[in-house]
Formats: sequence, structure tokens, C-alpha cells
Amino acid sequence: MNCPACANPLRKLHVEGVEVDTCEGGCGGLWFDNFELARFDEPHELAAAEALLMVPVDMSVEVDYQAKRQCPKCAVPMMRHFCTALRRTQVDACPQCGGNWLDVGELTQVRSEFREKAVRAAAKEQPVINKHLRWFVATD
Ligand SMILES: [Zn+2]
Ligand SMILES: [Zn+2]
Repeated sequence: MNCPACANPLRKLHVEGVEVDTCEGGCGGLWFDNFELARFDEPHELAAAEALLMVPVDMSVEVDYQAKRQCPKCAVPMMRHFCTALRRTQVDACPQCGGNWLDVGELTQVRSEFREKAVRAAAKEQPVINKHLRWFVATD
């Protein structure tokens, strides 16, 4: 599977027993399958997020954040969706397999949105499009 943003081959990273496809050595984006959810317990979530943010990237890779992306699995165009109640950050979601693509900058944005208490409260009521995004909830 290749990165939908920079075409670098994605590499599987095992975090807390779940496989995440990372653009290691490329743009640093992350692919989340929409299954194998629910294996997470709250105490692990932050550690998982830290590991994903530490993926080595090639700073010379240029990514067009506005470009339409194709699902790396199904090769169909992905749709942009707001992923938190604040509706600031959009991530790519595949209408076919339900996977999500997050650019490295989006990860940081999603994470900072989740830091706001109101968003965290709202996210409990209305689950975000992919439960993996809950990894980026800070536990203050
Ligand atoms: Zn990439
Ligand atoms: Zn797909």
C-alpha cells in the first residue's frame, strides 16, 4: 500500500496490538483501518498517540494538503470530513472501506482540538468518525 499523499510505501507500525500504516521516511501521514477498533483502554491511548507522532519523516517531502486523495486500499476518492465537534479539522475518509487518512499536520490539529474539554465531552456523546482518533485525547 502506498501513501496517498506522497506515494511512499506505507509501513506497518504495531501500536498497542493494533496495526497502523505509517508513511515512515516520507510525509509522516497515517492510515487507520476502520476495524480492529475497541481494543484500547484509556491508559494506553496517549502512549499510542505519542508513538505515532514520533514516526521519522523526510522533511524534504512536499505534500499538497488541498489535493484530493485516493484511498490507498480501494483506490476510490476519499471524502473530507470534520472529525471533531469543533469542526476545524478535516480528515480524509474512504466511503468504501471507512478507513481514515491523517496528514501529519492534521494529527497535531486534531490533538489540540481534543485537548479542549468541550470537545472531549461532545466526542463522548457523538463518536468521532474513527475511534482511533481518540488516541489524541490528552489526559490532563
Ligand atoms: Zn507520505
Ligand atoms: Zn478504502
